[in-house]
Amino acid sequence: MECIFCNIKEGKAEAEIIFEDDHILAFLDIQPINYGHTLVIPKKHYDNFLTVPRDELNKLTHATQFIAGIIKRTLNAEGFNVISNNGDPAGQSVFHFHYHIIPRFKNDFSLRPAVKNYKEGAMKEYGEQIRSFISKYKDIYNG
Ligand code: 5GP
Ligand code: ZN
Repeated sequence: MECIFCNIKEGKAEAEIIFEDDHILAFLDIQPINYGHTLVIPKKHYDNFLTVPRDELNKLTHATQFIAGIIKRTLNAEGFNVISNNGDPAGQSVFHFHYHIIPRFKNDFSLRPAVKNYKEGAMKEYGEQIRSFISKYKDIYNG
């Protein structure tokens, strides 16, 4: 399947690349939420957060931390968001895993949606449901 980020990695599509090593590539988002908005991708194609192997994810996260610090300093940003959208309902539009680094400034905009409140006992129920799946699958975490 055609993937725009694979094309960028292979030099078949243009991008404003700011950093790369053997495993990762970082380039400016073509439609930035703020100027300097950067995408950090693994060079190998993985669809989303759940399918990136652990060692690759570690390298990607390490690079994202480094680049976020550089962007904050370079642009004198007062903060930044590191986010990843996973799946269509979460806003993912390019299905090659990536972190967004978005430089932030006081009063620029709000990324905060309306919040919910748990009904009596519901938080415990959600907790129990999730914990029971964790005990079922914790070999994945340990392995
Ligand atoms: P997602 O919606 O999957 O979380 O993020 C995909 C991001 O990729 C979007 O913010 C979008 O602006 C950016 N994007 C899509 N196509 C291109 C492109 O061809 N070049 C660059 N530099 N960014 C792109
Ligand atoms: Zn790809």
